Amino acid sequence: MANIAIVGAGLLGRLMAWQLSLACNEHNNAHQISLYDQDAIDGQQSAAYTAAGLLTPYGESLSCEPELVAMGEAALAMWPELLGELTSPVDFQAHGSICVSHRADQGDYERFTRHISLQYPQAQLQLLSKSELAKQAPALAERFENGAYLQGEGCIDNHQLLNALASALKANDTVNWHEQTQVLAVSPFQVRTDSGTKQFDLVIDCRGIGASAIHSRASANADTNIEDQGALPMLRPVRGEVIRVYAPEVELSLPVRLMHPRYKLYIAPKANHEYVIGATEIESGATGKVTVQSALELLSALYSLHPGFAEAQIIEQLSHSRPAFADNRPQARSQSGLIQLNGLYRHGYLLAPVMLATGLHLVAQQINTAKSSKSSKSVPPAFFESLYADT
Ligand SMILES: Cc1cc2nc3c(=O)[nH]c(=O)nc-3n(C[C@H](O)[C@H](O)[C@H](O)COP(=O)(O)OP(=O)(O)OC[C@H]3O[C@@H](n4cnc5c(N)ncnc54)[C@H](O)[C@@H]3O)c2cc1C
Repeated sequence: MANIAIVGAGLLGRLMAWQLSLACNEHNNAHQISLYDQDAIDGQQSAAYTAAGLLTPYGESLSCEPELVAMGEAALAMWPELLGELTSPVDFQAHGSICVSHRADQGDYERFTRHISLQYPQAQLQLLSKSELAKQAPALAERFENGAYLQGEGCIDNHQLLNALASALKANDTVNWHEQTQVLAVSPFQVRTDSGTKQFDLVIDCRGIGASAIHSRASANADTNIEDQGALPMLRPVRGEVIRVYAPEVELSLPVRLMHPRYKLYIAPKANHEYVIGATEIESGATGKVTVQSALELLSALYSLHPGFAEAQIIEQLSHSRPAFADNRPQARSQSGLIQLNGLYRHGYLLAPVMLATGLHLVAQQINTAKSSKSSKSVPPAFFESLYADT
């Protein structure tokens, strides 16, 4: 079997490493996987850790093309089987999402519901009166006159997923996890770190924003002769900030989107009365902590949803860069010895199962794998063609 390097153990890198570690050839030999990340195994420095974990294809439809909405819908249906292969539990639900707006912002709400009804008649949008809202999400009926329910949308506990994947990978002795190891350069068949250059049968680059030309130059600046062939000049950072709170007085089980003229705000419910409010979207690669302005905006929006959020305790404030290409679409690139999966922007979890299947398909084109895991289904050809970017 093959000796494979995966660079980046965030969302895609972990998923790829896990699925490839389950594959084997006709003689039951497994791949040898070397997984590199500059971060510790808990992955706290990744966009994957910062994310809210919303899986809301129609909710996102104002900020992406219909094709990505279709991919998100397909991916949502793939998550349960994928998660079923993990031994540690991961909270996942697809019981629908709710969209609300304050009276002053009804224009945005109406634009959104009109857009969904006209563009996506299959979306099963239900417009809820105040009494219907009170049945579907009682906590919201106190402050909102109406709401829109999108059946089938959902969310995933991203921290649990990262931990579950880490446990599965650590339990597999064909995986060698090089944590806290910065990769200085990636090229076909090669990975360069401080300890030198290592050869592989295949390198899979899942560095997220770390593969942008600016980040890659910064990684390599100790040695200016290093050429990082995996660097993606068109990849840009889009800063996002979220705040996690513990609010025992609030009972919300569905993801909520608050229509607002300036911010795309949502709340992702987590276990034990924890809620993640997000997310700012700033065209910047700034890496500092959450700013006062962002915190004010996010927390005011949160408090405006339910008075119980006034007593909520702030647990965590996180910021990270979403990796995005100019058209905000993900890309899967492949050349002999090197596969690059990147550009998931604000849709990493939403699209991950489709991107994973695309990545596994590209691996299978380079390396013959007789047996793979249950959930590494082949990606629908139309999705594959649209994600695949010729190098
Ligand atoms: C605030 C915010 C909210 C979000 N909310 C959602 C959401 O609700 N739903 C959704 O679907 N998506 C969401 N996203 C998007 C999602 O998090 C990303 O699309 C996804 O994490 C990208 O996955 P990735 O594997 O490409 O990158 P990452 O998850 O960032 O992983 C990249 C990994 O590569 C490592 N790395 C980078 N450079 C190097 C190097 N030189 N050497 C070694 N290791 C390196 C990093 O340490 C990191 O672990 C959100 C993102 C942000 C920032």
